[in-house]
Parts: sequence; C-alpha cells; structure tokens
Amino acid sequence: MKQTLVLKVNPNKPSIKKVKVAADIIRKGGLVAFPTETVYGLGADAMNPDAVLALFKAKNRPLDNPPIVHIENMNTVYELTEHVPPKAELLMRQFWPGPLTLIFKRSKRVPEITVAGLETVAIRMPQHTVALALIKESGCAIAAPSANLAGKPSPTSAKHVLADLGGRIDAILDGGSTRIGVESTVLDLSVDPPQVLRPGGTPVEALRKVLGDVRLHPFVVAEEEVPIEKARSPGMRHRHYAPNAKVILVEGALHAVIAKIKELTDLYRLKGVKVGVLATDETIANYEADVVKSLGSRFNLEAIAQNLFTLLREFDDEGVAIIIAESVPSEGLGLAVMNRLRKASGYNILKVV
Ligand code: AMP
Ligand code: MG
Repeated sequence: MKQTLVLKVNPNKPSIKKVKVAADIIRKGGLVAFPTETVYGLGADAMNPDAVLALFKAKNRPLDNPPIVHIENMNTVYELTEHVPPKAELLMRQFWPGPLTLIFKRSKRVPEITVAGLETVAIRMPQHTVALALIKESGCAIAAPSANLAGKPSPTSAKHVLADLGGRIDAILDGGSTRIGVESTVLDLSVDPPQVLRPGGTPVEALRKVLGDVRLHPFVVAEEEVPIEKARSPGMRHRHYAPNAKVILVEGALHAVIAKIKELTDLYRLKGVKVGVLATDETIANYEADVVKSLGSRFNLEAIAQNLFTLLREFDDEGVAIIIAESVPSEGLGLAVMNRLRKASGYNILKVV
C-alpha cells in the first residue's frame, strides 16, 4: 500500500507547480491518474515497459488488453507509428484534441507490453487542459486506460478513482468531474470501410459526415457475448463497466419497458431484494423501487452519457442488489450508453414489445 498524493487543480487553469509534481512522477516510472474530457485515465510513461506493467497491475487489468496512448502534439503520432494514412490525418485535424482514438500500425519503438503484443497502437489527443499539460510537462507519451479497477464502471470523478485505486497509485490530479462521461470512440482505419471498435464520445454520425461509410463492429451492437476469436479489439471480450449489483437491461418500446420494469421491481421486492431502477426524467415518476435514479432527459443523450457511470457507482454505494435499467435511443452518444449498459448487464437483456 502506498500513499496516493491528491493534487487538486483548477480543470481549466491547473497550477503548473502541481502538474510538474505529477509529470515528475510519470518521468520516474510512476502512476498518475488524471482527468480527460471522457473519464479519468491512469497514466504511465508509454515507452517505459516497467511503468506500463505496474499500470496493468494497479488496475488488475489483463495483460492482453492494451491501453490507449495519449499525446499532446500531432508529431508524436509519427514517432509511435509506421504509417499514418491520409484518412487518419483528416480525422486528426478534424477531431483532435477530442474523444476519438485511432488505431495505427505501430513503430517497433513502442514496447510490446504497451500494445499487448499487437502490431497496432491506439492513440488519441485528449481535450482537457490538465491532461494536455501533464503530457507536455512529462515529455512522455502517456499510456492511460480508464482509472478504475478492471471490470468496474469507469471513473468520472477523483472520488471514483480513489475508491478503486487509492493506495495503489502514486498520485491523482483532481480536476473535478469529467464532461463527457463515457470513454473515447475507438476507430480502426486498417479496414475499408473504417470500423468502430468501441462507440464513445465521438458519435459515429460525426465520423460518417467526414468519412462517408463507417461500419460498426458487430460487437458494438452485440446483444449477446461475441466469440473471443471475433473480437478484434482485445477490450471487447472482457467483462466491463459492471457495478457490484446485478444489472438487468430492458429494451423495447418505452411504454412496454416501463410496464416490465414495474413488474420486475414488484417481483424482486416481494422476495426481499433491494431494487434500484435506472430511469430517465420522463419516466421516473412511474417507479416505486428502493432506489430510483434518473440518467437525465431522453432528449439529452449527452447528459445521460455524463451521468451513467456515476449513477452505477451510486447504486453500489446505496447497497442495491439489483439494478433494472431502461434502454435509451441508440443515436449520438446513446450508442455508447447502450453499449456500456449491455456490457454492464453481462448481456442480461430483456426484450419487450
Ligand atoms: P480503456 O483504456 O480502458 O479506455 O480501453 C482502451 C480500449 O482500446 C480497449 O477496448 C482496448 O481493447 C482498445 N485498444 C487499445 N489498443 C488497441 C489496438 N491496438 N487495437 C484495437 N483496440 C485497441
Ligand atoms: Mg476501461
């Protein structure tokens, strides 16, 4: 157990002194959690194999699931990769800094462990003053998966990070809550048409506007476990985003979803099970469970994305045994929300009409 140093910073104008303390830890091979616009990341020097190994250990992350490498300067992409296709350059200009991760053929300079032995590397430039300052001050490309214990919901505040990783990491830059609340979109340009491996903060609709045809990997919209050999992004096959409570996701027409959730709530409560319902502003008045929380308005999928992981953790804090969740429209950020909810439920999905 080590002491985790908490460095509270203004998210828009961080104290350079505190950023330097954190950057120094990264340079020396240590682990620092930091805010990005998506979720908190747990950073290590991407080119230091020992540091990256420690990163995997701190999270209990399987070694076959590589982190995303975070950069603050476009030129770094050329140092970390063999080849940058024109489409990637177009996207970098359009979407960076921002919640879009691109998969490149990697340079041999990138340590094996950082890419989990793959021939490719995932890179993005985050849109957050604290993240960019940390990368710049450290002078390192920073490998950073989400700063949660493997399998848990991603952290959208320093409190979440400390709950999972307090005593396991060297420091955290606490820059308040994250703006987007779900992770970056992961796009593979090595196939034609390009394929989304993980839906996230950059909507596919926005990518299609620039690239034309963009496909979703079958896993992105999967409603059941996809066989391991089909999962091209290693992270796809690991259980993810799951609170301690069991999650049931109810999908279908809204009136039918509400009726089914009410029925299930009554059923479980009769059995003495503490039930949580994950609702929306428009539906919350329908439910009488032990704990009922609203993700936000169905007309504001950005707000829903921002609240998702926080609410999943709150249900755990309140000790519910089961969370029954409504589905939301799969458009814009809703696609990422539904993907996370399906995975959080372990594909425990009820279809109603
Ligand atoms: P996280 O770091 O927790 O946000 O997860 C990073 C995601 O990016 C995981 O789903 C990884 O499997 C995925 N990823 C990282 N590197 C690669 C790569 N080289 N090819 C495909 N997916 C990758
Ligand atoms: Mg993660």
